[in-house]
Amino acid sequence: MSNSEKPDTWLAQAGHMVDAETGSVIPPMHTAATFARDADYETRAGYMYSRYGNPTTHQAEAIIARLEGAEDTLLFNSGLSAVAAILESLPAGAKVVAPRVMYFGVLVWMQRLVDKGLISLSLYTPGDTQSLEAVASEQADLIWVETPANPDWSITSISHAAGVSRAVGAKLVVDGTCAPPVTTRSLDYGADYAFHSATKYLNGHSDVTGGVLSVSEETKAWQDIKEIRKLQGTILPGFESWLLIRGLRTLGVRWDKACENAITIAKHFEGHPRLEAVIYPGLASHSGHETAAAQMTRGFGGMMSLLVKGGFDAGKQVASSTSVFLPATSLGGVESLIEHRKTVEGDATDVAANLVRLSVGIEDADDLIADLEKAIAKV
Ligand code: PLP
Repeated sequence: MSNSEKPDTWLAQAGHMVDAETGSVIPPMHTAATFARDADYETRAGYMYSRYGNPTTHQAEAIIARLEGAEDTLLFNSGLSAVAAILESLPAGAKVVAPRVMYFGVLVWMQRLVDKGLISLSLYTPGDTQSLEAVASEQADLIWVETPANPDWSITSISHAAGVSRAVGAKLVVDGTCAPPVTTRSLDYGADYAFHSATKYLNGHSDVTGGVLSVSEETKAWQDIKEIRKLQGTILPGFESWLLIRGLRTLGVRWDKACENAITIAKHFEGHPRLEAVIYPGLASHSGHETAAAQMTRGFGGMMSLLVKGGFDAGKQVASSTSVFLPATSLGGVESLIEHRKTVEGDATDVAANLVRLSVGIEDADDLIADLEKAIAKV
């Protein structure tokens, strides 16, 4: 295997996997809950019990580690369980700095810990370097960045956040769910932990719920996160890991097609008389466009939001009126999805009532545009 090979080459072949015993070009799937020891009562390949590790999970982790340029990678049975492991690893009373706008489930989880008096939480405005500097000006234990951030796609400079983290002695986590490592390798920009909901672009087929954490350097804190996964049993099981490997093989082409469709759609609808705005980091009008262009090296992705004129009801109506875009939550799959975020997030956040989130998939762009035109015309 040559080091100069581009990711698409070794991804397509699942890390050049050929099964030594059978020649199978598809990895075998290991689903065993336990592993028999040898005649000397030693484990045969280091595997003992499924909660501790599994060969198929390990193979998926090795592929993602290579993609991220990471020293180690851990897969979890959801994005949120990976988030929970990081938060669980913090000392009592830890100071966490997080963006005001981010995937709401992570914010809800952090708030639960605040309510129990376990951590303190200070919020910064994403995309505003001065706001991050001000909020993290004193000692902090963890700085959270999500870029692009749900659902306004604000962009945070990872290198700037890494500088701030180093200055205050914090660990930096980057949630790059909407910018998978084919476009942004956050460890290269100084993140301590690269996090993704693997449910989204990494798997890409809406049939696995998973989360992934990668580090450039194994530390004591990382060992602790490993221990937490082992004790909580939140490892991604063999079957889901196998599906994830299947999904990873096409990550590059899926990503490219979603990016191409999204920019076409964004340009088509920008300035539409029934919309207040099209929010997409690939548009020059987006406030984070330049930073995004610098750290998203292979396109801006398939996520965008439309602000529909007419408030809550108009937004909800657009999200209920498409037939190609499916009215479902989640993102990053081959199928396009549409969501009225206020209905989903409720009072947990102050997301705009007229915001409609699109996860643009790999269908024909003309069909997607016609579908949205029809839905918007109904309002
Ligand atoms: N981070 C982001 C940006 C997400 O969009 C999501 C889920 O939508 C998560 C984290 C949580 O991941 P999961 O749903 O796999 O637990």
